[in-house]
Amino acid sequence: MSDQVVDVYVAANGPQAHFLRGLLADAGIDARVVGDALQAAGYNTVTPPHLWVRADQVEAAREVLTDWEAQSHQPPPEDRAPPTWDCPTCGAEVDADFDLCWQCQTPRKPY
Ligand SMILES: [Zn+2]
Repeated sequence: MSDQVVDVYVAANGPQAHFLRGLLADAGIDARVVGDALQAAGYNTVTPPHLWVRADQVEAAREVLTDWEAQSHQPPPEDRAPPTWDCPTCGAEVDADFDLCWQCQTPRKPY
């Protein structure tokens, strides 16, 4: 059965599934996204898209997906949210760039 397919991965969502399908295609693996067609057709399904590959390409596909997971699950860079301080007088959240509360002009307390 050379056309047997194996479910190798459950993607978080459709775009991710199609991204991974492209990644597998780059590696010479012919993957199929199964499941998100239902969502596209308007069915309210909670089934996430699956990636299917031919049985003889399962090992190669798993390798690609494992590499991808290792890369994408690296610790995120430092929290990029700008630091803020809370005004002790009115409780407003003030951007760290400002030393006075934008709402009541209370100066920032030195820590
Ligand atoms: Zn304030």
